[in-house]
Amino acid sequence: MADEQSERKLGEGEFLTKQINCPHCGHLLDACTDLMSNRRPEKGDASVCIYCAELCIYNDDQTLRQAEFDDCMQLQSDPKLWALINKTQETAARRLFDENKEALASWGITKP
Ligand SMILES: [Zn+2]
Repeated sequence: MADEQSERKLGEGEFLTKQINCPHCGHLLDACTDLMSNRRPEKGDASVCIYCAELCIYNDDQTLRQAEFDDCMQLQSDPKLWALINKTQETAARRLFDENKEALASWGITKP
């Protein structure tokens, strides 16, 4: 019997990963999309959580840790990569905003 994960259709550049929790928001993550090289994530690769838009870094064992200042400095040394990370965070943040528009409006927040 196939489990739910193996029955999922994956998009181009999307890979199933070990089931892990985002180190920022705790949401369960089980897939990633490689936007640059179409390969599985490796140690030191950056990842943006689609649920909270925070920046994470892959560990050796395919778990994630929160990105630290030094990680950001290193990622910024590649302007193309840093721009892609920022764009991805913006997209994830906009999705979050759209999904929570009513609650945010009740707090007076009307723009992403
Ligand atoms: Zn998250």
